[in-house]
Amino acid sequence: MSAIVGIDLGTTNSLVGCMEAGFPILCADADGERLTPSVVHFPASPASPVVGRAAQRLRALAPEATVFSVKRLIGRRVGEEEAEVGCALAGRPGGPVKLAVGGREWLPEEVSALVLGKLKADAERALGCEVSRAVITVPAYFNDAQRQATLRAGELAGLKVERILNEPTAAALAYGVDRLGERAKIAVFDLGGGTFDLSVLELSAGVFQVLSTQGNTRLGGDDLDRRVEQWIVEGLKADGLADDARWAGDGELRARVRERAVEAKHRLSAVEEVGVELPFVDGTRSFSRVLSRAELEAMAARVFEPVREHCLRALSDARLRPDELGAVILVGGMTRMPLVRRMVAEIFGREADTSQNPDEAVALGATLQAGILSGSVRNVVLLDVTPLSLGIETFGGLMNVIIPRNSTIPTKAGEMFTNAVAGQRLMRIHVLQGEREMVRDNWSLGQFDLEFEPSPKAQARVGVQFEIDANGILHVLARDTKTGREQRVQMASAVDVSDEAVEKMLEDSLEHAFEDMNERAFTEAQMKSRDLLAAVRLGLEKAGALLREDEGERIAQLMRAVEESAGAGASGPLKKAMAALDDATQPLAALLVEQAMGPR
Ligand code: AMP
Repeated sequence: MSAIVGIDLGTTNSLVGCMEAGFPILCADADGERLTPSVVHFPASPASPVVGRAAQRLRALAPEATVFSVKRLIGRRVGEEEAEVGCALAGRPGGPVKLAVGGREWLPEEVSALVLGKLKADAERALGCEVSRAVITVPAYFNDAQRQATLRAGELAGLKVERILNEPTAAALAYGVDRLGERAKIAVFDLGGGTFDLSVLELSAGVFQVLSTQGNTRLGGDDLDRRVEQWIVEGLKADGLADDARWAGDGELRARVRERAVEAKHRLSAVEEVGVELPFVDGTRSFSRVLSRAELEAMAARVFEPVREHCLRALSDARLRPDELGAVILVGGMTRMPLVRRMVAEIFGREADTSQNPDEAVALGATLQAGILSGSVRNVVLLDVTPLSLGIETFGGLMNVIIPRNSTIPTKAGEMFTNAVAGQRLMRIHVLQGEREMVRDNWSLGQFDLEFEPSPKAQARVGVQFEIDANGILHVLARDTKTGREQRVQMASAVDVSDEAVEKMLEDSLEHAFEDMNERAFTEAQMKSRDLLAAVRLGLEKAGALLREDEGERIAQLMRAVEESAGAGASGPLKKAMAALDDATQPLAALLVEQAMGPR
């Protein structure tokens, strides 16, 4: 059997590792480097794409033919907020985002597959054997579409993806189970190039469980890079070395500025000020300015402000105070920045653990997970949780939750549904994700129809089962219990929404909790009122003539009252009106029973 490798497929850099003699080891490439920039350069055909450090160097020379940060686009659709990845974007509105580079259009996962292909080859060289299986990590906040696309990237690279593992879980594994006490709780703070994740995990009897996760797939070092680039551009303009037209039209200048920005940011983690130089930027004159750590920190404080809120929410989701944590682990290159470390110390009231190399912890954890799967590491099991609730649409546009938020995965849950209308032949299964009561406020993951036997109203029995597998991918099964006819759908085309939107979803669900509850109560009462009115009308047709005049008038009056309250929007008065109508129809009900019993 071939080896299983662990892969950290990062926004900025990627790494691959394998187990050797019971230890996780990261593989170096032919140049002895372990960190592979997640950058792909597409030379003019017929040469094949260049990946990693070599591509990174070519980025300055041919920025339009070089793709970076493709992880920010993986599993995303055209029209959603799109990230800068170097080359031009393509694809039809509503369809998957594509990249127009190297003379054709590429899906993001096809570009990621090229990065994975290089890691696979590096691992094979290091191990001296074929590698065809892998554990690949993703941010905890990646949705279904992003996980699916990552899985496809692995397959395209010739790897069977044994497990998609959440990055913080991997980092916690790397931190070392033996260093933690029984029932220890730890926070993993991961600030990388493109994503931020904060996860709270609990270790109990050799089992890691994710208690809560919070994150943002669009917040990271790249955002700070753009601020520093902006600072350089303003300097260039002030010195009369570039104007808007040149900046917009000169890709090479933009790439040079980007390089200087990142370099300055890195050096300011160690020194108090750096010189930012761009020699002969307009052919004759040079640019030179000093950037201080204090200036960089002022930019970073604004960029990373949302981090604080995410941390506090993750703690409150896990129902923990900071002092109840056994450790705070730092992951991601941006946690090398002194300001970020100070923020962590302030938020959690303690110094973070820096025993792990923040660039390597996730890859080491992925490798350990590969070891667990291949049987060379024992006694550790990993459990993750769902970041948002999953459910289906039911009558009246209501969301019916099947798997609640923060459920431990893998998980399976089901419910029985029925037909709203007599003789109905199709049931539409509309799969939703979100925390709100009404369908319109949640996100649609997809829908399909299940054909079933026409039955009288509310007689059909359709079982709907949701299963989230170990990779966090949702499988939906709907079955007509009468005929056994069933349909299974893998939610591959999840509508992908930015994590600002995930954030907003959680905030809105709290802010609108009362209105939502009222609207649900009203919608349910409204549906009941329709049933009640229909039943009374039918009763009146059958036996209305036998009622006393005052009884008939009272029923008619109360029916109008129910109709009016059903259009008014408040559940209290509607429920009262229904109760009154229910009461007033007692004589009618008695007549109907008499009729049904036949003449005595
Ligand atoms: P990752 O996505 O974990 O590879 O993190 C990469 C991010 O960390 C990029 O934004 C890098 O510019 C940033 N980074 C790496 N090293 C340092 C450093 N020494 N100081 C500040 N930022 C760094």
